[in-house]
Amino acid sequence: MSFEKLNLIEPILKALSAEGYTKPTPIQEQSIPVLLERRDLLGCAQTGTGKTAAFAIPILQLLHQDELYKKAAPGIKVLILTPTRELAIQIGESFAAYGKLLRIKHTVIFGGVPQRSQTDALRAGVDILIATPGRLLDLMDQRYVRLDQLKTFVLDEADRMLDMGFIHDVKKIITKIPAKRQTIFFSATMPEEISKLAATILTNPVRVEVTPASSTANTVKQEIYFVDKNNKRLLLLHLLKDDSINTALVFTRTKHGADRVAKDLNRAGIMAEAIHGNKSQNARQRALSNFKAQETRVLVATDIAARGIDIDELSHVVNYELPNIPETYVHRIGRTGRAGASGISISFCDAEERAYLKDIQKLIGKSVPLAQDNPYP
Ligand code: AMP
Repeated sequence: MSFEKLNLIEPILKALSAEGYTKPTPIQEQSIPVLLERRDLLGCAQTGTGKTAAFAIPILQLLHQDELYKKAAPGIKVLILTPTRELAIQIGESFAAYGKLLRIKHTVIFGGVPQRSQTDALRAGVDILIATPGRLLDLMDQRYVRLDQLKTFVLDEADRMLDMGFIHDVKKIITKIPAKRQTIFFSATMPEEISKLAATILTNPVRVEVTPASSTANTVKQEIYFVDKNNKRLLLLHLLKDDSINTALVFTRTKHGADRVAKDLNRAGIMAEAIHGNKSQNARQRALSNFKAQETRVLVATDIAARGIDIDELSHVVNYELPNIPETYVHRIGRTGRAGASGISISFCDAEERAYLKDIQKLIGKSVPLAQDNPYP
């Protein structure tokens, strides 16, 4: 299947090819035709599946075609709600990339920063608004945002909205948008509260689902090192002597652990930064940008901080500590080997973590191969 077969317009096809996309991912193949028909969609998919492009591409195409045929009233036509600033920025970057040959304006708003540049952008007029719930409500209350021209509403990572305590804000926003609209709903998991919400806001949706969280992509090579807790530090330094590790995302269980690992690496002359919930939004964003620009080689993160972050060409994921929830392992290693690229996942397992490994192997339905050269067995 190629993008051409999905009836996409030339400026979008060109932009996708400039991004290096050669064929649609399964979620894109299933969602794009449905969304181009303006149907509602219930998507069960996590980040890494290409879900952003699955909704961004048809949204851009429909907006562009609407503009060609009739001059619509000015105003926000599309609202995308997403739980975190990092995701909002990434979605904004996707719209910029796929829509770069179109004349459709988008902007991104989120909390934790002064609102001035955001309200300036809103005043200048946008077609697509990407927002986190708190800041959106705030700017709606201040009358910077009007949604009466809205045609399409996207709720991204609905389950995470619930986890993060944003679900009431989301529901409040939904009461303030036109009832007649296209609704696109994405969630990695479907706890009861989320499927209830989906049922109330979707009309006769098409359901699409890809890679349940129990399966690990075949494009990720996994290996495990059995190592004493005290030797994990040395083992990591040893592995990072290998220059083929361009970029590594290292997971720790605790914030404190993340800071410690980053500090150890820096002391050994390896550029590393830590991100976790105790750091300010700005510090997290800066660390992420440095890592994406490959200015830092290693990013050390906790699960909460790393969920949803999207780094193209991440070569290695290191589980410095194994997670006690097996699904978390699947999420972690899914940061690499994205959209068909290959990646390597390295896990450290000390005596206390053997039980976690057992649970992980049960979930993924295979055993993780033992690493060949372990200097600290
Ligand atoms: P997402 O699931 O939206 O977070 O996307 C995961 C990653 O896959 C992003 O880095 C996208 O740029 C990339 N991606 C999305 N669609 C494609 C595609 N069809 N071909 C190659 N890469 C893609």
